[in-house]
Amino acid sequence: MTDEPLDIVVAGGGYVGIAAAVAVKSAALHLKVRVIDAAPPDVWRKDQRASAIAAGAGRMLTTMGVWSQILQEAQPITDMIVTDSRTSDPVRPVFLTFDGEVAPGEPFAHMVPNPVLVGALREKAEELDIVIEQGVTVEGFETGDAATRVTLGDGRVLTARLLIAADGVRSRLRDMAGIRTVHWSYGQSGIVTTVRHERPHNGRAEEHFLPAGPFAILPLPDNRSSLVWTERTEDAERLVKEDDLVFEAELERRFGHKLGTLELAGDRRAFPLGLTLAREFVRPRIALAGDAAHGIHPIAGQGLNLGFRDVAALAETVVEADRLGLDIGSLSVLERYQVWRRFDTFQMGVTCDVLNRLFSNDITPVRAMRDFGLGLVDRMPTLKGFFIRQASGLPGRQGPRLLRGEAI
Ligand SMILES: Cc1cc2nc3c(=O)[nH]c(=O)nc-3n(C[C@H](O)[C@H](O)[C@H](O)COP(=O)(O)OP(=O)(O)OC[C@H]3O[C@@H](n4cnc5c(N)ncnc54)[C@H](O)[C@@H]3O)c2cc1C
Repeated sequence: MTDEPLDIVVAGGGYVGIAAAVAVKSAALHLKVRVIDAAPPDVWRKDQRASAIAAGAGRMLTTMGVWSQILQEAQPITDMIVTDSRTSDPVRPVFLTFDGEVAPGEPFAHMVPNPVLVGALREKAEELDIVIEQGVTVEGFETGDAATRVTLGDGRVLTARLLIAADGVRSRLRDMAGIRTVHWSYGQSGIVTTVRHERPHNGRAEEHFLPAGPFAILPLPDNRSSLVWTERTEDAERLVKEDDLVFEAELERRFGHKLGTLELAGDRRAFPLGLTLAREFVRPRIALAGDAAHGIHPIAGQGLNLGFRDVAALAETVVEADRLGLDIGSLSVLERYQVWRRFDTFQMGVTCDVLNRLFSNDITPVRAMRDFGLGLVDRMPTLKGFFIRQASGLPGRQGPRLLRGEAI
């Protein structure tokens, strides 16, 4: 059974898939866009995680008309400190501090609860008449000259000029397109949970480099913080299964007592960490976006931000091609997107990889060298400004318009 022809099918209704559909439709309402998501309905509401959303992505979400709603439940990150110590050290000396505004009143990032982010994007998708089918998988596709035939798990076949693969880091569509990846595992997992503390964090984010990996404390509204706690995978898996008393004791050893007494305020999950970079982002009639194109270490909280940068570049590429009467699924059009995104992605993936290798160890000469480096950066305002700008994800003048806060 074949439905009416579409312009775009998005495989994957995570943050990136829905944001891509909304970004395109907001600028080109006449395009027929459908999102197919394997996850059961409403599963996103149960996600207790939060994400650091950088200023560049914030400007894009503002232009898409969803940021003001998100801001009501977001926590601005006003400053950040970086320490480097052993888990058992009684104090964690601060080596580097950032205070985080990219423009007056605009912090370099906000912490946003994931359901708030997805909820706002879904509401906008509904307003734009984007159909999101839940609990349905994209099983395969067949690329033709003028369209691609997308086969769904329930037996239906959709035809579209472009298939956007936003099906996550283990993307099956990427494999089906014959796109190879560079991939390795870090042997680490990120434990994610939320804590409530007695004293306010005042918007401060903390990154404690410990021998097993970074331990990040990220501020949330109401005296709560989201934790991304890296351990070797076997330790992380053991820790998430421990009873609350043991888990809390291990948590306190790392978190310290500066914010007073701690209380667990969410469930805990461990995510295995690796680097996955697609060698190509496009093939005729298919474009990869988000984690399907790149899965990186969360050391800098940039994975989803990279995905939003894909969205901005892909939407602009597609909408401009459509305005010029070009075929939006043709390789010549999609290559512009690939050129735009490949270098930035590679640079961020490698930076996070190097930082993780440099800091996730307890080798004394390496520690001395990296602490000297951190101290040096701390005394150089220009360099600090450069790092803040990188973390904020704001593009240069050639970057996608949505990231500059301009409509496509
Ligand atoms: C511990 C940890 C902390 C992180 N913290 C941050 C942070 O603070 N800031 C940040 O920017 N990033 C962060 N990230 C990264 C961020 O979570 C990911 O980059 C983001 O989830 C990627 O979104 P996505 O939409 O590309 O993929 P996903 O969120 O994986 O969504 C993929 C979707 O595709 C669907 N799907 C899969 N296969 C199919 C199919 N065949 N057919 C149809 N649908 C399909 C799935 O059901 C899912 O809904 C973190 C990651 C980890 C592991």
